[in-house]
Amino acid sequence: MTDMNNNWLNFIGGDWVDASNKIEVYDPATGEAFASIARADTDDVERAVVAARACVNSGILTDCRPVVRAKMMSRIADEIRNIVDVAAPLLSQENGKSLDDAREEFLIAARYFDYYGGMADKIEGKSIPLGEDYIDFTYYEPVGISAQIVPWNFPVDICARSLAPALAAGNAVIVKSPEITPLAITWLATACKRAGLPDGALSILCGPGREVGNALVSHPDINQIIFTGSVPTGQSILKAAAEHAVPSVMELGGKSAAVVFPDADMDQLLDSVRWGIFFNAGQVCSAMSRLLVHRDIYDDVVARVMQLAKGLRIGAGIDNAELTPVVSAQQQQQILSICDRACSEGARLVTGGQAPAGLQGYFIEPTVFADVTPDMTLFTEEVFGPVLAITPFDTEEEAWALANGTDFGLVAGVFTHDLTRSIRASRALRAGQVFVNEWYAGGVETPFGGLGLSGFGREKGQEALYSYVNTKNVAIRVTSPAK
Ligand code: NAD
Repeated sequence: MTDMNNNWLNFIGGDWVDASNKIEVYDPATGEAFASIARADTDDVERAVVAARACVNSGILTDCRPVVRAKMMSRIADEIRNIVDVAAPLLSQENGKSLDDAREEFLIAARYFDYYGGMADKIEGKSIPLGEDYIDFTYYEPVGISAQIVPWNFPVDICARSLAPALAAGNAVIVKSPEITPLAITWLATACKRAGLPDGALSILCGPGREVGNALVSHPDINQIIFTGSVPTGQSILKAAAEHAVPSVMELGGKSAAVVFPDADMDQLLDSVRWGIFFNAGQVCSAMSRLLVHRDIYDDVVARVMQLAKGLRIGAGIDNAELTPVVSAQQQQQILSICDRACSEGARLVTGGQAPAGLQGYFIEPTVFADVTPDMTLFTEEVFGPVLAITPFDTEEEAWALANGTDFGLVAGVFTHDLTRSIRASRALRAGQVFVNEWYAGGVETPFGGLGLSGFGREKGQEALYSYVNTKNVAIRVTSPAK
C-alpha cells in the first residue's frame, strides 16, 4: 500500500489488515513518534500460516515452468526500483540511517530479486549412476512455508536477502518485521503485489517478538525458520525449532576484527575503518568492531583513526550526515554504558564515548578506544554502535589468536600487501568470510554467515538458495530381478 497516512498495516495473505492495537514508530534523529503500525497478534499469525499453506498446496508457485517464477522475480525487482524515491526516506526516518544508504538498501533488495530470479529456472538435480538395473535422480523441492524473522538494522536488505531465494525456490514466506523499524519493509509487500505475486505467497506481520515472533516460530505448520538477530533471541528460537524439528538458519551477532600489518595501505585502511565501524552508526552485525594493529605502526594508526572519527559530520540520516543516530533511546543507553565500563576496565578513550551535546535524538559520538586487552568486555562483547576497540600485537600468530579470541566468528579482515600472508590469514581466521584490504568486500553473490555464536547456515550467493529446498532422491528399478 503506497500511502497509509502514517497508519501502516500488516500484509496477510494478499490483503492489508488493520488491528485495534498499534505500535508507535519513532524518528531516532528527533526522538519523536511520527507514525504507527497495526500491532499483529497470534490470530494474525494463524491467518498468515493458513494463507501460506493454501498457496503451497495450490501448486501455483511450483506447477508452472520455473521461468514463470524467474520473470515474476524480475518484475518484483523492477517494482522495488520504482518505489525507491518514496520508500527510502521512510527507511531513513524510522531507522536513522542516511538517505543515500537507505536508497542503496532498496537497490540491494532489488538486486537480490534479480540474482535469485536468475537462478529460479536453474535449480537442477543430478542423475546418479547405479548400474544398468536402475535410473536414479535427485530433484529439489521447496521446503513449504519459510518463517523469517528480521532485525531493525537493515530491515529491507535482510528481508529481501531471505525472501528472494525462498520465493525463487517456490516457497511461501511469512515475515515477522522488527517492531522498531516496521514501515519501509511493507513496501516490499507492495512491490510483490504489484508484480503479481500470488496471494498467500507472502505475509508481513509486525508484532512483539516474544508474542508474534514466538507464535510464528513455534507454529507446527511452518517448515523452516530463517532468523537474523541477537544471540539470546536466536537461542530461544532454536529451542522452539527443536520442538517440531524445524530446520533453521541463524544469522546472529559478531565481534569482528581487522588485523593491520605495517605494509598496509593507509588510505585503504582508513576508508575501511570509516565504513567498517561508522556506517549505519556501527549497527552492523559484520562491523569492524576491533582493530588489531602491529606495534610498529600502532601509535600512527591510533592517531589517524582519531582524526577520522573526529572529522565525521554528525546529524540526521535524512540530511545525509556521515554519522547518524542509533536506532533507539535504549540502544543509546546501552552503548553509553558499555563505553563507561570500557573506561572503568582501563581502556584508553581516544575520542567520543558520549552523546554529543545539543542534539535531541539518539546520537553517540564516533568513539575510539585504544589499548583494549582481551580481558576487557569491550574486546569480547558486541556493542552494535559506533565504537571501535584498538589493540596492539607483535607477531602474526598473536594477531590470529587475538582475532579468534571471542565466541563469535562472523567476518574477519586483514590489511597487508603480502599475498602469502593474506592467504595464511584466510586460513587462520575463524570466520565465515575473510576480507583482504577492504572491509565488506563481496556482495549479493558471496555467501555470508557465521561460526560459533555468530550462527550457522549461509545467506547470499548461489549457496543460500539450497537452504530453501529439500533434496529428494528417486531410485527406479528398470530391470526385473534375475530369477
Ligand atoms: P533481536 O534478537 O532483539 O530481534 C530480532 C528479531 O527477533 C525482531 O524482529 C524481534 O521482534 C524478534 N524476536 C524477539 N524475540 C523473539 C522470540 N522469542 N521469538 C521470535 N522472534 C523474536 O535483534 P535486534 O536487536 O533486532 O538486532 C540486532 C542483533 O541482530 C545484533 O546482535 C546483530 O549482530 C544481529 N544481526 C545479525 C545479522 C547477520 O546477518 N548475522 C544481521 C543483522 C543483525
